[in-house]
Order: sequence, then structure tokens, then C-alpha cells
Amino acid sequence: MEKLAGVDADFKVMFEKHAARAQRLRTEPWQNRKKLIKSFGEFVIQNRHRIHEALKADLGKSETETDISEVFPLITEIKHAVRELGNWVEPEPIDAPITYLGTTSELQYEPKGACLIIGPWNFPFMLTLGPLVSCLAAGNTAIIKPSELTPHTSQLMRDMVKEFFEEDLVTVIEGDAQVATQLLKLPFDHIFFTGSTSVGKIVMRAAADHLCSVTLELGGKSPTIIDASANLNDAAKRIAFGKFLNVGQACVAPDYILIDKTVELEFIDLLKQNISKLYAANGSINSQSPDYGRIVNARNFNRIDALVQDAIQLGAKVELNGASDATSRFFHPVILSGVPTDSKIMEEEIFGPVLPIISFSSEEEILPIILARPKPLGFYIFSTRKAFQQKLTESVSAGAVCINDCVLQFTHPNLPFGGTNASGFGKAHGRYGFLAFSNEKPVLKQKRGITMSSFLYPPFNNRVKRTINLMLRWL
Ligand code: NAD
Repeated sequence: MEKLAGVDADFKVMFEKHAARAQRLRTEPWQNRKKLIKSFGEFVIQNRHRIHEALKADLGKSETETDISEVFPLITEIKHAVRELGNWVEPEPIDAPITYLGTTSELQYEPKGACLIIGPWNFPFMLTLGPLVSCLAAGNTAIIKPSELTPHTSQLMRDMVKEFFEEDLVTVIEGDAQVATQLLKLPFDHIFFTGSTSVGKIVMRAAADHLCSVTLELGGKSPTIIDASANLNDAAKRIAFGKFLNVGQACVAPDYILIDKTVELEFIDLLKQNISKLYAANGSINSQSPDYGRIVNARNFNRIDALVQDAIQLGAKVELNGASDATSRFFHPVILSGVPTDSKIMEEEIFGPVLPIISFSSEEEILPIILARPKPLGFYIFSTRKAFQQKLTESVSAGAVCINDCVLQFTHPNLPFGGTNASGFGKAHGRYGFLAFSNEKPVLKQKRGITMSSFLYPPFNNRVKRTINLMLRWL
């Protein structure tokens, strides 16, 4: 092993155990992984009540929201992997060109080895254990560092992992940035990081020391476009769900809306009605609303509040607001219109229940606003005009595009999930998650006797030169 100066001795010992187990795993039948993942899925379902309790304590999530946004996506990932693993591990035969006549080649999917998964706090269970499924499916070991900002869920994952997995296969190490910094000094074979763009850069720098591959699942400002042809009621209903799920603390939440001026007022009215339908069970949305969660901590509560105040000071109009409560971290949904593009809320990812709306009089105004910002994770277009959908889809580089809905691209098991540049790189979910944790290793087998390449061996006489000329002509 490389020299590891300044790393906690316990972490080093744990890493060595994982590295040794990862080596043994390479020759074990893939069916063992399938069995393990399948029974882990059953274990998760048996422990649903513990997951409900932890998410309630950390993020004020209702049981149903926890089922929809934490348990269901994880179980989907697990069932998909169990069903498909046999296909994913199958080596892929590769055709030989004429110059390789007589050889046979295939791509084998080998496990990368000892992996590190660093999780975020916003969907802390699913976004930490989802990558674990891909990691195990590909035949690796995992050390997991969950977010310290959701301590109940973090502790639950530590307990569940301890109860279910062998320690040298999966280990949860709890802690903050300092612990993550220590772990990042170890020579992992792959790091799967979900979190902010700024920490993503730190992770990538650390990975460079060991030339370790990384998957970075980051965030960003996902633009949402609504033109005059869109079905406004559908748009309002779907955006109300996508934006206020987990109180807007979702990496794929619509971040801001660009809307045709002629339909702006009607849309805002419909959006307000739809938000009420979702959350105002008792006539208003308040700290007693059962299906509306909480902001994770006071720092984020104050950060979001400051973004709203800054936009208002710069001239934004408040279309929807209500009493928030800092003590219980209940943040009332906010809709702002006429938001200046140079306000702070249009610079950083909002990650909260605030939706800025900017209207356009001409479609030419749309692209400059989007392209002035880093490449987003999601891009949402509400329109019935195919040419408009296509033009925007082609013009904007984004992690994913979703037309006439939002957020749904995340849970589709056959679609890769991830960003591009500032919103991250590398893909997660299903086969793409399996590939993220695999090395696609070509294996070439040569035949006996004379081979095509032997015609190019020295001495470089006229025969070799003629062969080269032939190849240049016929390749
Ligand atoms: P974060 O970057 O603050 O923290 C993520 C993890 O990194 C935590 O486990 C944390 O302990 C660790 N960390 C913090 N500082 C570190 C350091 N200096 N070195 C190493 N590790 C460190 O992110 P967050 O606040 O937990 O999550 C919110 C962000 O994550 C948002 O930007 C959101 O868009 C993004 N996100 C992306 C996805 C996705 O799948 N693309 C999903 C959820 C969240």
C-alpha cells in the first residue's frame, strides 16, 4: 500500500481490510452479489418504521413522503439490479477488424475494488444507499461516509449496515468534513460523491493524489421554461410537486421559472392553487401541515431567507408567502415574480421552497439567461411545440431534460442520472451505476501461429512497407 501520512490509524486498518476483501471478491460468482442485494432489499423493507422515524426526526418528513422519496427509489434500484445483474455482468463480444483477423475480443466488467461513498443530507437514506447497491452489484466493497447534518439517518444507516453486512464488505464511518478529509487520503479505487459543487472540487483534488476515479453527483440551478402553448394546469400541478417535495431541498428541483409574459398571471394563480391543494390540508400551510417537511438546519433556513430578502430589496414582487418559523425550521412556500437576473437568488442554487419567476416577451430572451449560468443538473420545458422543445433541448447542455414534467427523470430505472461539468459527471442508477463502479476491461485472445500483426515486425523491409501501404488503402 502507498505511504499514508497523517491518516487516522483505525481508518487505515479498516481500509486495508476492505482492500483485501475486494481482492477476494474479484473471483467470487456474481450470483452471491445478487443474493446479498436481494436480501438487503428485504431487510430495508423490514426496517421501514426505523427509516420513517429517522427521516421524521431529521427533516420532518411524513411517513408517506419518506416512502415515496427514500424507500421506494432505493427498493426500485435494488429490484432492478437483482433482475438485471445477470445481463450487466455478461462479457460483451467485440468484433475484430481485418487487421485483427484471427483474434477474439470481449469487454469484461471487473470490479474497481475498494470504494468510498460520501452522501448528502437532503435524501440522506436513498442517496447514500442507492450508490451502495451499484457498488455491490459491480462486486466492490464500500466505506460509507453519510452526512453529519442528518444524524438520526446517519446513525440508522450505521446500525443497519452493521446488522446486515460483514464489516470488511460495507462499513459506515460517521463524521463531518474532517472525517471525510481523512478518508479521502486513502487510496480508494473509486469515490462516489453526492453533494455540493464546492465540496465536489475538494473531493476531485483529493482523488487526484491517488489517480482515483470519481463520480460527482452535484447540484445547480435547474431552469424551467413555460411557453404560451403549455398546458398551464398540468405545468402548475407538476411544478408544485417537483419544487416543494422535501421543501425544495432536492438537487433536481426546478430552481427558477422563465415564462411567456402572456400566460404568467394565469400560471401563478394556478401554481398557488396547486400548492394549496398539496399542503393546505387545514386551510393554510403552516407548521402543523402534515405533509410539508422542514429545512435541515438554522444555517440553511437563514441562507434561504436572505436570498428572498435580497430579491425583494432589488424589486422582486412577492406572489405567495406566509408566516415561517425559524425555531421549528418551517419555511412557508414563497413565489417571487419580476426577479432581477442579478439578484443572489439567481446566482446560487436555492435548495429551498422559494420559486423565482422571470417573464419573457420574446423567446430570444431565454437562452442568454440560462447560458450565463453553469450547466444545470435538470432542464425542464413545458410546451406543446415540438420545434421549441427541440431547439431548447439542443441548445442547452444539462444533466437531463424533462419535457412537460420535472424531477421524474431521477427515478426512471433505465435512464442514467448525473450532471455535466459544474453539475457533476459520471452517471448513477441501474446499469449506469454498475458501470460507474466497474472497469470495462478489454480481453483480447490471439490465435496460434502466424498473425496479422507479425507482418509488421522488423526488419522494416519492402515487404513491411508494402503491407503498410495496403493497410492505409484498405482500412
Ligand atoms: P455538501 O457538499 O455540503 O456535503 C456532502 C458530503 O460531503 C457530506 O457527507 C459532508 O460531510 C461532506 N463534506 C463536507 N465538507 C467536506 C470536505 N471539505 N471534504 C470532504 N467532504 C466534505 O452537500 P450537502 O449540503 O449535503 O448537499 C446539498 C448539495 O448536494 C446541493 O448542492 C445539491 O444539489 C447536491 N445534491 C446533488 C445530488 C445529485 O444526485 N446530483 C443529490 C443530492 C444533493
